[in-house]
Amino acid sequence: MEPRIQKLQEEFKKQFGSDQDTQLFQAPGRVNLIGEHTDYNEGFVLPAAIDRSILALARPRKDKQVRIYSRDFQNLFEFSLDKIKPVKDSWGNYPMGVAEILQGEKLKLKGFEAVSESNVPVGAGLSSSAAIELVNAFIFATFSKLKLDRVKMALLCQKAENEFVGVKCGIMDQFIIALGEKDRALFLDCRDLSYRLIPVQSEKVKLVITNTKVKRSLAGSEYNQRREECGEGVNLLKKKLPKIKSLRDVTPEDLAEHQELLPETVRKRCFHVVMENDRVVKAVEALEKNSLREFGRLMIESHNSLRDLYQVSCPELDLLVKNALSLKGVLGSRMTGAGFGGCTVSLVDEKAVDEFRIKSSRGYQKETGKVPEFYVCRISDGVREVKS
Ligand code: ADP
Ligand code: MG
Repeated sequence: MEPRIQKLQEEFKKQFGSDQDTQLFQAPGRVNLIGEHTDYNEGFVLPAAIDRSILALARPRKDKQVRIYSRDFQNLFEFSLDKIKPVKDSWGNYPMGVAEILQGEKLKLKGFEAVSESNVPVGAGLSSSAAIELVNAFIFATFSKLKLDRVKMALLCQKAENEFVGVKCGIMDQFIIALGEKDRALFLDCRDLSYRLIPVQSEKVKLVITNTKVKRSLAGSEYNQRREECGEGVNLLKKKLPKIKSLRDVTPEDLAEHQELLPETVRKRCFHVVMENDRVVKAVEALEKNSLREFGRLMIESHNSLRDLYQVSCPELDLLVKNALSLKGVLGSRMTGAGFGGCTVSLVDEKAVDEFRIKSSRGYQKETGKVPEFYVCRISDGVREVKS
């Protein structure tokens, strides 16, 4: 962490003169451990914040100007809080969108200047976008002394991404980055946002995230189609289950009994969602019993279901998971995120991590010609000010 902070301080001096009176802020990336494509079905998810993060060194201003230099994009973005409008294809839309939505809540914002730097890979499905939203929201909240709890902050950042940036994301990413805690996964009910932090005994195992480096080109259209298929499933099942509002309300037994109402594709989608919700509940129980082996088994079931029933995996993700499961010390492995590329997450015995990286990388390169990237992670705190 120290070298990162030093570089930020040097950059801050270069951009803004001195670095007096600056404060340091940090927002992590996140990984979803289990509960995939359940969020928009009002179901359960179990994400964790990771120790990859965006750091921002910032200082309040007396006027309404916001000036942010991104070291990653080597680009200074500047705007006035009085004149906000989106700029095509700019990372500046994330901080600007957050400002717009906060001001829409009648919150009075102060300007600031900041330098940021991140080691959350962009576009890999670890939510670099929600990290940049939350770090900026937190800076505004601190400097402008806003009365804003973390749940509200997450909701407003989601609104910024939905309405200002124009990405129809769910609440999971912003929620975990706002409320995550070290060595705890967050069990979130996407229907009413009730949540519970679940301790993960992780001294002996590591979360290893592996990036396929596959561009997620299909993700958008396929995602919308899956949402529609789930909606269709609910409408058809309502004939026999009039009280259901979403797939969240359907039990595995209900679905087994009434599956003949559904055409084949819709039936497969529904089975994935209903069983995946059930797996999240079981995964939480496994963590509470400290049974990482059972947790790993549920991860594998989740992957198989995403591959065969929900059909959102891809050959590269399947290859990484298959190879991972053939290695020593691997308790579980699955694709994470919306699919069609992005990353897998594996639960690996600490002693087996080095071999995992070597063998998994070799096998992947041989078959795909692509070099995967590995992020060996610990579960970390959500957005915060870092006091030196
Ligand atoms: P992800 O899966 O990483 O969230 P998204 O496409 O949702 O991918 O968001 C990536 C976008 O977030 C980038 O194109 C950029 O606009 C913004 N972003 C992410 N990290 C940074 C950063 N360090 N500095 C500036 N903008 C960033
Ligand atoms: Mg994103």
